[in-house]
Amino acid sequence: MIAIQTINLTKKYKGKIAVNSLNLTIEQGELFAWLGLNGAGKTTTIKMLSCLTKPTNGDAIILGNSIISNPIKVKELINVSPQETAIAPNLTVRENLEFIAGIYGSDKRQSKQKAEDIISSFELSSITEEKAKTLSGGWQRRLSIAMALISEPQILFLDEPTLGLDVVARRELWSVIKRLKNKVTIILTTHYLEEAESLADRISIMAKGELKSIGTPNELISKTNTARFEDAFI
Ligand code: ATP
Repeated sequence: MIAIQTINLTKKYKGKIAVNSLNLTIEQGELFAWLGLNGAGKTTTIKMLSCLTKPTNGDAIILGNSIISNPIKVKELINVSPQETAIAPNLTVRENLEFIAGIYGSDKRQSKQKAEDIISSFELSSITEEKAKTLSGGWQRRLSIAMALISEPQILFLDEPTLGLDVVARRELWSVIKRLKNKVTIILTTHYLEEAESLADRISIMAKGELKSIGTPNELISKTNTARFEDAFI
């Protein structure tokens, strides 16, 4: 089944193109990476697909639902992380998770259970009583992803999940993301080639709002005829 299909998806800000007539299909269960430098249009694409901003032209179909005509349904099917604003800095990790679970759970017992399940699957038990603001960047990202999964979305957007993290924290987060593979369709944006290569089933390379290339990591290497994907940005 197709998770996402974009049809001439376009965004202009004051007449200036941010995303130009994007056409692509992402299958359910895929881990799909958008690779691109600053200003390539990755975040704008995610914002359109998650109904945070309206396209100027075109449409996208998310599991059979148009982002234009059925944004409410689309919002039920997706979630976006990291969303730093979603973490309450003065609440503990457990309180943050229980708060989100309370929004989606039907009663207190169920939401506590949901938070417990996530604490165990995300290996958060050593930090449950820590205030979120005291956590390292890597743990905050892990908590953010855990919170995004409480609503059991069909599609998870990870917008630059490891930006600013050191190498060790980045690799730890990669293993968290790898464990989610095949459980949920994941679309991630990144500046890092090795992140896309290590995690993604397919990679799309964006530059200046255009899709420059798309394929498996191996296909892209042979297509660009060089091991340097960065060359395809130019
Ligand atoms: P980054 O990796 O830096 O987040 P990106 O690939 O996500 O970059 P976007 O943030 O989608 O790129 O930006 C694409 C283009 O649209 C850029 O030229 C940017 O300046 C412009 N843009 C993005 N948001 C707005 C906005 N709210 N108003 C005006 N222009 C915007």
